[in-house]
Amino acid sequence: MALLEAIPERLIVAFVAILITYLQTTANFYILGPALGGWTSFRAQKILLPMNIFLASLYVNYYLACTTDPGHTPEGWEPPFSVLNPDEDAVIRVGITGPRFCRKCDAYKPPRAHHCKHCGKCVLRMDHHCPWIGNCVGFGNYSHFVRFVYSVIGCCTYGCYLLLWRLQRILDAWNNPWVIVKPGTSEVVMIVIDILLVGIVLLAVGVLALYHSYCLFKGQTTIEGWERTKTKRLINRRKIDPVEFPFDVGFYKNICSVLGDNPLLWVWPSPPKGDGLKYAVKQNTDPLIPYSWPPRDLKDLGPSFIERIEQEQTSEGPKLVRRDSEGYLVREITMEDRMRMLNGETNDMEFDNSREPLEQEAHEQFLQQQQQEVDPEDYYYDSASVSDGFTEDEEEEEEDHINHDEWVDEE
Ligand SMILES: [Zn+2]
Ligand SMILES: [Zn+2]
Repeated sequence: MALLEAIPERLIVAFVAILITYLQTTANFYILGPALGGWTSFRAQKILLPMNIFLASLYVNYYLACTTDPGHTPEGWEPPFSVLNPDEDAVIRVGITGPRFCRKCDAYKPPRAHHCKHCGKCVLRMDHHCPWIGNCVGFGNYSHFVRFVYSVIGCCTYGCYLLLWRLQRILDAWNNPWVIVKPGTSEVVMIVIDILLVGIVLLAVGVLALYHSYCLFKGQTTIEGWERTKTKRLINRRKIDPVEFPFDVGFYKNICSVLGDNPLLWVWPSPPKGDGLKYAVKQNTDPLIPYSWPPRDLKDLGPSFIERIEQEQTSEGPKLVRRDSEGYLVREITMEDRMRMLNGETNDMEFDNSREPLEQEAHEQFLQQQQQEVDPEDYYYDSASVSDGFTEDEEEEEEDHINHDEWVDEE
């Protein structure tokens, strides 16, 4: 893995392209074509057609997987107002830790997006960063990646079958005393090299194809597979309330969400539907859950989490405290704030003027309520400071996990 990381990704992609081209050229023009009566003969074309259809699909989808942007968080994207400012009932009901926030990008993370340390950005519906395509696999290119993987399996399986058939014919000819002109050893060497290379590719990509079939059927990404395991563990240990993975909308719809609505066109390289910022969810899923998935053990968030947030505040900035019952980070109201509230100065507490008028109005109503019933124990939500709830360790763990995915990809 470390060795692979040291190699520039362009070189790895060039190696893959050369390997594919070497295998298809030797198989088509030096081994199978001549053995079937010449590459242009009807017999050769008929027998080689399935392999070459898979081969064309492999080239096209490899090119698309490498060059298509997986999608990144649009500038200034924010979750809907209702998610940034949930009512308390919803928070208690769902038990969430707030919308996810990327500290490295200093921006909210859309549902299913993750930060990729290789790309230096948050990637929409991130699956993993794949050095073999020199690109992140995410919302924009996941379907191309999956089609590429299946094309490799189809092409290599059929090609390997034909190569073994040819090898058997040569061995038969060598052992048959009636055959006067024996096939040359150079062809056998070429066949053996091709079979070995194809075998290695089949083994590695076969594991990947099986895993991504499972992900496709379950409507999850590689990262979400890991998150689901972790969530199950938290539920089993009774650290969080039982919660279902929201993006699994059923076997058929899960496949359609990646490969398109028309099954006849699943093999056709087409862009994904949607914008990568919103996803279909299971029925009766609380609207807050997609924005805060995966759930976290609230006890794991502090006190290091609180300390970190406090350190990030400037000396003049507001101090954040955790509201234990909900796990939310809220701003502590100082005596100065309370005096300002009593004096009717409500505009500079936590909102800046750049907010939407509707949002501002709702917030002013909220502050008016606060003025009417100022309680020393009262806190209020500071939506802008609600984080994704990652502790430093967990953030590292997430990165470790992404590394692991890359490892899986390379197997
Ligand atoms: Zn990011
Ligand atoms: Zn990446």
